[in-house]
Amino acid sequence: MMDQEEIMRKFQESGAILKGHFRFTSGLHSDTYIQCAQVMQYPEFIHNLCSELGKRFKGEHVDVIIGPAVGAVIMAYVMARVMGPWVRTLFTERENGEMTLRRSFKIDKGEKVIVVEDVITTGGSVKEVMELVKQRGGEVVGVAALVDRSGGKVELGVKTETLLNVKMNNYNPDECPLCKKGLPLIEPGSRNLKNKVA
Ligand SMILES: [Zn+2]
Repeated sequence: MMDQEEIMRKFQESGAILKGHFRFTSGLHSDTYIQCAQVMQYPEFIHNLCSELGKRFKGEHVDVIIGPAVGAVIMAYVMARVMGPWVRTLFTERENGEMTLRRSFKIDKGEKVIVVEDVITTGGSVKEVMELVKQRGGEVVGVAALVDRSGGKVELGVKTETLLNVKMNNYNPDECPLCKKGLPLIEPGSRNLKNKVA
């Protein structure tokens, strides 16, 4: 089993921990950004991480693993693979800002579902996926994430397992020391990361 230190070292080695001056969708500024896509480059590592998460739900009956695209697609797939041969993998997508289930994906009434996410910040996306599952008649039995950077503050009302707790300095824009230093502000995100960070 991997401990926090080992996982953190792997994240650093893969280039997933970015240092700089970032603006999150929440509006807060931070000196650290975690780009999990960097970690997803290494199937063996992701397999190990998702196996570890899967172990924590051992004994639970699970029908479906679901997560929001793009970040959680690979995770959901690998986790379903390690949890059992009949566990399905689905992903949600945003359509006009709303979390939706497309591609004829279905959740049957009473199916037991684990929601996965790469990084939990405010838990916003996870809560939207949970709501979607409930609307479709599914039952959310747990949430699994690679990284919790909320400082353990996010309360989701179900069993929540995360592998890495990362404490970050988050600042309101008007109190941000990085702004005061005049460091250029980067807006990360899967949609524009390529242009702004890479
Ligand atoms: Zn700032």
